[in-house]
Amino acid sequence: MKIKEVKTYIVSQKLGEQSFCYSQAWYNTRTLMLLEIITEDGVYGFGEAFGNAFVNKAIIDNVYAPKLIGQHIFDSEKIWDELYNTLRDNGQKGSCIQAISAVDNALWDLKGKYTHLPVYQLLGGARRDKILPYATGFYHTKTDNQEALLVEEAHKYLTAGFKAMKMKIGFGIENDIQMVKTVREAIGPDIKLMVDANHAYTAMAAIKIAQAIEKYDITWFEEPVIPEDIGGYKEVKAATSIPIAGGEAEFTRYGFKRFIDERCVDILQPDCSIMGGLSEAQKIFSMAKIANTQCYPHVWGSAIALQTGMHAAFAMPDFPESLNPGEVLFEYDRTPNIFRDEMNLLYQVTLKDGYIEKPEFEGLGFEPDRDLIAKHLVK
Ligand code: CA
Repeated sequence: MKIKEVKTYIVSQKLGEQSFCYSQAWYNTRTLMLLEIITEDGVYGFGEAFGNAFVNKAIIDNVYAPKLIGQHIFDSEKIWDELYNTLRDNGQKGSCIQAISAVDNALWDLKGKYTHLPVYQLLGGARRDKILPYATGFYHTKTDNQEALLVEEAHKYLTAGFKAMKMKIGFGIENDIQMVKTVREAIGPDIKLMVDANHAYTAMAAIKIAQAIEKYDITWFEEPVIPEDIGGYKEVKAATSIPIAGGEAEFTRYGFKRFIDERCVDILQPDCSIMGGLSEAQKIFSMAKIANTQCYPHVWGSAIALQTGMHAAFAMPDFPESLNPGEVLFEYDRTPNIFRDEMNLLYQVTLKDGYIEKPEFEGLGFEPDRDLIAKHLVK
């Protein structure tokens, strides 16, 4: 069970006509960094690092990989501390932590394969049999009639059986308010609707939007302000009845402690391929539990990131326990991404009555289509 080899892959899909934007940038490609850890027995595990694929690859290839060779896969807490401390003075947030996430998750995948157990069981056991996926979409595109396209997209998700959807805002106050109205009218009153500004606003602007869209029954308002602006988060939270969510741009137990202690969000959104991996997620869930603050895992990326987040969503505790605990909402990005939809030969997400049922595969439940990786590999 010792590590023999560490491989990194950058894969890229050109989006062309399918390019889309959110409040911060255009997506013209889907470019990802995948990590494979292989043991002396020839067993392999996969992890993914969100963020800049080239920076993440450089950190793993040059700094982390040499430290991993010869280590035992069950020494994952020890490994996490060693890797973190190696770049602690240089990278307590960002790519250094995203790269650790990929390593940690690949080790969980391996631990699952060696024990023939699903990762959620190794994390302490599934707390639920199903989770409620929400369609993440409603990005903007090059079009003269964005509103018509958003309505068309809403109908597509309704047809697919989604009971919850999250739309992008952050395109200007008046535009946002109009688009939220349009989408709410398109989906009717019974579907959950969330909005996500990707920190495009000051607190003052975010409050103006929040108060204007309260009447559209918004399940949460995600990243209204920049992640550094804890005071701004608190102002927005105090000024609206809409729950405030954030945390996808926060890292490790240290970063989340600040978010939790300040009580600046109603919903924490740790991403297992960003903030330090499943091991770190366990610690963040514990801290959130102490503060009785809801967590819903954030997910963005390939089938590996999706599977990783899913195991966290099944294993996560309830906030709080009760006879009828709240459903766990799970992010299911619906923008074009062949690495999410076609790379996993073992398992594909399917909705049953709008829910994702607990998968039974060992490890993360990921079997790579190596031809697909080879075809899209960035050399
Ligand atoms: Ca988001």
